Amino acid sequence: MRVFNKHFFGQLWQQAWSLVLIEMSRQEIGWLVRPGGHLSLLSRRRTTMIVSRVRLVAALFALLTPLWIVVDVVAFTSEIWFELVLGRLAATAAFVAVMLMPRKMQSPHDAYRSLGLLLAIPTAFFIFSSQHMGQFEMQGMQAAFATGYAFLPFVVVAGLSIFPLTLIESILFAAPVLLAQIGAAVFKLPILNWPTVAASFWLLLLIMGVSALAGISQLAFMIVLVREAIRDGLTGCYSRHSGEELLEVHFSLAVRNKTPLTLAFIDLDRFKQINDTFGHDVGDHVLIDAVTLIRKHLRTGDILARWGGEEFVLVMPNASLKEASIALNRLRDMGLGRRPDGVAVTASIGVAGRIEDARESWQDLVALADSRMYAGKQAGRDRIVSRGSGE
Ligand code: GH3
Ligand code: MG
Ligand code: MG
Repeated sequence: MRVFNKHFFGQLWQQAWSLVLIEMSRQEIGWLVRPGGHLSLLSRRRTTMIVSRVRLVAALFALLTPLWIVVDVVAFTSEIWFELVLGRLAATAAFVAVMLMPRKMQSPHDAYRSLGLLLAIPTAFFIFSSQHMGQFEMQGMQAAFATGYAFLPFVVVAGLSIFPLTLIESILFAAPVLLAQIGAAVFKLPILNWPTVAASFWLLLLIMGVSALAGISQLAFMIVLVREAIRDGLTGCYSRHSGEELLEVHFSLAVRNKTPLTLAFIDLDRFKQINDTFGHDVGDHVLIDAVTLIRKHLRTGDILARWGGEEFVLVMPNASLKEASIALNRLRDMGLGRRPDGVAVTASIGVAGRIEDARESWQDLVALADSRMYAGKQAGRDRIVSRGSGE
């Protein structure tokens, strides 16, 4: 009964999740909550999106912030507006600076830095303006225009909704604004009384919830799109384009950390013959089987990309040429499946190591592995060609 219950509730839980977040795996749902463990390709795209949106918003506010100076001058007496105008000019300059900031989009930290700076500007302006206006008694039209300044935190928290953030990121980025709102109330902003403060804080929390949901939905959409875009439809391997992107990331990481990285160029032997003899559909299945078998030999962190029709590139970060060769020999011994007539499917494999072969770029390493694969074809196929084994 216990087992049944556990099973039943487990199923129910899964069902509920899949209804809310269609097409997402458990791991992907975790990615919506916190940024840890995001695929590097997802991270990069998310960073690019956040940094470019920050610049867009900064540009918009660099235009809008000084425009309101006219309203300040008309609505307030000079002792009030003078400092507000100075504050606006400073904020405008800061928005321009964020807009012109170097476009660095390497890691999520670049996204955090630019978004943090962007949010800091209206938050600082809000603290400054609420302090400043708190010194004056205002009535009628002046009080009405002063209320406009109290809306600033709402604009900031609502604005967070345009960024594809995880739940934790949304909360952390909204937190300083919520604190500023509490601070402003503690300093007794004269335009607000306590029930209003409580109500407006509640409203701010609600807007934060909606913003976080909007951010998560964008992120969910992005995760599904990235997942679809980076995979090859037939085999489920990384597509060539994303393979190149990943290889670039891992190659520069290996250079920076002085760690090995080995690459294997795998080309199935006489594949055209399989198509010609048994038809294209059988060819497709042989391809899928071969990939399934290669995958069984992968370590976590290895990357298998379909480079062309029946050509694959296997990237093994942190594996020396020797270690990789042992794994590839094991793969060759196990075989890559069979054709319908029972003949074993084989491959010619060229292997190259970043350190062992002293290559400075990932392109050179791929070219070397490719030429070794080709040497393997020339030498009679079904073999692994590595450093010193017949180039
Ligand atoms: P070699 O041993 O020299 O590599 O010979 P090969 O026949 O494997 O090489 P070749 O490059 O001449 O032919 C590759 C063939 O792979 C040609 C193409 O019809 C087939 N192919 C490419 N992509 C697919 C695919 O997605 N499905 C199927 N069924 N065949 C494919
Ligand atoms: Mg081939
Ligand atoms: Mg080929």
